[in-house]
Amino acid sequence: MQAVAAVLQTGRLHRYNVDDGEESEAARLEREYAAWQGTDYCLACTSGGYALQLALRAAGLQAGDTVLANAWTLAPVPGAIYASGGQPVFVEIDSTCRIDLTDLAAKADASGAKFLMLSHMRGHIADMEAIQAICESRGIVMIEDCAHTMGARWNAVLSGNFGHIACFSTQTYKHMNSGEGGLLTTNDPEIAARATILSGSYMLYDRHGAGPDTQAFEDVRLTTPNCSGRMDNMRAALLRAQLPDLPGKIDAWNRRYAILEAAITRTQGLAPIPRPTSEAYVGSSIQFQAISLQPAQIPDLLARLAARGVEVKWFGEADPRGFTSRYDSWRYLADIAPLPNTLDALSKLLDMRIPLTFDEADCTLIGTIIGEEAAKTL
Ligand SMILES: *Cc1c(COP(=O)(O)O)cnc(C)c1O
Repeated sequence: MQAVAAVLQTGRLHRYNVDDGEESEAARLEREYAAWQGTDYCLACTSGGYALQLALRAAGLQAGDTVLANAWTLAPVPGAIYASGGQPVFVEIDSTCRIDLTDLAAKADASGAKFLMLSHMRGHIADMEAIQAICESRGIVMIEDCAHTMGARWNAVLSGNFGHIACFSTQTYKHMNSGEGGLLTTNDPEIAARATILSGSYMLYDRHGAGPDTQAFEDVRLTTPNCSGRMDNMRAALLRAQLPDLPGKIDAWNRRYAILEAAITRTQGLAPIPRPTSEAYVGSSIQFQAISLQPAQIPDLLARLAARGVEVKWFGEADPRGFTSRYDSWRYLADIAPLPNTLDALSKLLDMRIPLTFDEADCTLIGTIIGEEAAKTL
């Protein structure tokens, strides 16, 4: 609140409203986030979904180009592909909710796609070296959607550092909270320059904190459209204040996750999604499968849980509620080939966010309630 008040006091809320030599809050955030992520460049913008759109355009997507994407993701992903003019080809997920590598390779070959938008959905990271090999051998640009993996790692490497571009969301339900916001990181100076101009830098890009040098802008400055979606200094100040706390928050999430995971493991009929040892996850939500329940029994279980204050989401629901994550509800997209494995995995998949406003005792209680209600169903 103090950081935001200080920005308000100056009256200079627009990121490019700076004196000569002065660094805006947005530019400072970009410099600090790039250092945290270990990337050369960072761009702050209005939302995670907007960052995904920029990523596709900055990577050179032309209208009609095919974009591979895992079929289980959140609505901003197909929305970003649609908005950038791309054509999605959805790839199956496997029983652990990660992208199916065999289907990825097959669909990459069949479609000739040059882009993969990979969501680490709900924080589950697939075998990143295998995905890199599939992409590299086919000249596919990989864009990582790290909306749920800010601060997570695969084989000790931060999520977001495997592809050409990574996108993060800083809206309220993600790992840092500026109400709305997005961050894009890359090591490619040309992509960074294009993304910056696309985000609405006008010809003020030399005031950009963690951007490439002005040389990188020379080739793209007049051939890249301005699709305004900048981050303002108030949001940037909010995020700068939160970044140092991220490691502590990750520990707090994982302690809560461990309590819930243990309770669900003990519950007959339910099983948490397995966590490979290569994955250092951020347990900001938990997913588990109703392995011995019929889909018809799930709504009743969820209603009984809700009556006791435990809100659980079911991805198998035919009519999506809250957030849409099932490909068959994105009807504005033409001709999505059926994905039986994905529908089968989602038909059993339950999900709960773990806000840090829950303390560890709350998580113990929630675990007990889940156990008691599941026992009544079986
Ligand atoms: C939240 C989220 C995004 C981006 O969301 P915005 O609301 O646009 O910031 C993208 N992908 C996934 C998987 C998400 O959960």
